[in-house]
Amino acid sequence: MSSSSSPSGYALPHIQKLHGYTPGFQPKGDGWVKINTNENPYPPSPSVDEAIRAALGGSLRLYPDPRSEALRAEAAKLHGLEPEQVIFGNGSDDILNLLVRAFANESSAGYLLPSYSLYPVLCGIQDAGTVEVPFDRSMELPFEALAKLDAKILFITSPNAPTGVGFSNEDLARVIESFDGIVVVDEAYADFAEENATELLVKYRNLVVTRTFSKSYGLAGLRLGYAMADRDVIDVLDRVRDSYNVNQLTQAGGLAALKDQSYLRAIAAKICRTRDFYRAEWEKLGWFCYPSQSNFLFVEPRNAAGECGASVAQDLFEFFKENKILVRYFPSSPLTDSFLRISVGDEDQMLKV
Ligand code: PMP
Repeated sequence: MSSSSSPSGYALPHIQKLHGYTPGFQPKGDGWVKINTNENPYPPSPSVDEAIRAALGGSLRLYPDPRSEALRAEAAKLHGLEPEQVIFGNGSDDILNLLVRAFANESSAGYLLPSYSLYPVLCGIQDAGTVEVPFDRSMELPFEALAKLDAKILFITSPNAPTGVGFSNEDLARVIESFDGIVVVDEAYADFAEENATELLVKYRNLVVTRTFSKSYGLAGLRLGYAMADRDVIDVLDRVRDSYNVNQLTQAGGLAALKDQSYLRAIAAKICRTRDFYRAEWEKLGWFCYPSQSNFLFVEPRNAAGECGASVAQDLFEFFKENKILVRYFPSSPLTDSFLRISVGDEDQMLKV
């Protein structure tokens, strides 16, 4: 590990030179149309509120269940797995961090570009090597490059962010079979997708599927996520995590949310309908938009002269911001710099876009 000295002589770790993760802008004050971080525009199941209130009346002076056993049992039941195949964390970011610490420490991790930009940050902290596999404009999985990947762990975001493109189980299985290491399918947006990879867990012991409560469950503020995998993989992750990594209120609220699958499905269906409506509307304007299986659209806007490109996207991003509409712009790559990522909001929010 590289290190350097501060003026007072102590050694600072290599982390000093890293750029930390930059989360999407969280504005202060009212009046913003906030469709920049793929939060759910609708509230969580009413049962979440009740469960948290009940937990508040309990014993917060005691530590929470260190293993979040009730959550593991409920998620296992939902997905047809054993509780030993599930682990919960403080958001799925916590889970991704555990995976990098356990499997990429002092070796290499692979991920696709563009995909979730936290993976390289987590790898950088661990001083793990990174291998970046670029998509082309089709945003389909680059099978040949992935089959040659020299890494211990590979992260695939499906549906992908920021494009929204979902990968079929057939395509994911092809990658999993060709990769000699752990494949993490980050399913933060799976509840808005046609297919999900959990059924592949029966067949592939090197597969890890991660989920979050921040999107479809409308609980970004609660911080809860989980991973499903072979029990040996979960056992390793359990040895890495903080003892009490999910607090009591979150365990109570998360359990209520998991138990209310009909509410989840109704909200997800509503968001998908709005998403498909706006994709069709923007296509009528001549704007290119990737087919989305998530709760956001990645759209290439055109100006009045019918032109698209980085300056058109940037100008529209600035114009939106001046009008208190927050969307996301990714200027760092030619594959993304002519696009805006717009989270699907409620009807009022979408009418303002
Ligand atoms: N994975 C992806 C692909 C995401 O977009 C996000 C949200 N930014 C996360 C994981 C993290 O979600 P959480 O809020 O559960 O940490």
